[in-house]
Amino acid sequence: MIEDDPAIRTAVLRALEDLGHAVTSAPDALSGLHAAVEQAPDIVILDLGLPDLDGSEMLRMLRAVSEVPVIVATARDDDPTAVRALNSGADDFLAKPFSAEQLDARIRAVLRRSQSPSATDDLVVGGLLLSSAARTASLDGVPLELTPREFDLLQYLMERPNTVVGKRELLTEVWRMAPSGADKTVDVHVSWLRRKLGETAAEPRYLHTVRGVGLKLTLPPTD
Ligand code: CA
Repeated sequence: MIEDDPAIRTAVLRALEDLGHAVTSAPDALSGLHAAVEQAPDIVILDLGLPDLDGSEMLRMLRAVSEVPVIVATARDDDPTAVRALNSGADDFLAKPFSAEQLDARIRAVLRRSQSPSATDDLVVGGLLLSSAARTASLDGVPLELTPREFDLLQYLMERPNTVVGKRELLTEVWRMAPSGADKTVDVHVSWLRRKLGETAAEPRYLHTVRGVGLKLTLPPTD
């Protein structure tokens, strides 16, 4: 975050950290430019009114050396400098005063947009590769013949590696069904998926049953 007002800087920095971001700050354009190049952040929040250089001037300099996403913070949303900033290569702008939640939402939206489709569509866990866009999956380079439900189940688990996912959660999120205690649907599909991955419940590699809790997809042990 490049911002010369120490009160705003401190408040936003703390709030963003509370929301789970790692944030560093710079009080002027030139130290900010240096930090943006040196630290290679995921995103830059840039105040336009800086003591040493105009923010849009700084942005042009940054754009010459970096494609890092930039959100410009401006005094007013009809500010012509904001338009100039967008023309200089800003990805979005936010009018002051803004809440940390508003900024957080913009940050996430800009980061989503800036990620290449291949980075968001392809999931990789060990030898498992899944393409959400193409709806294909393979294991160690060999295509997996999955039913739509098995594909959805595998995708859901691969999006959350090393996380125990409950059967009720799978029923509601993958099957879009109301969870009912006695439902064996998940068990049956898991056992089919297991077979296609060439493993068993007794000797799991990727799919691990966590007794009484649910299911977890992990990297297989290296031997
Ligand atoms: Ca300022």
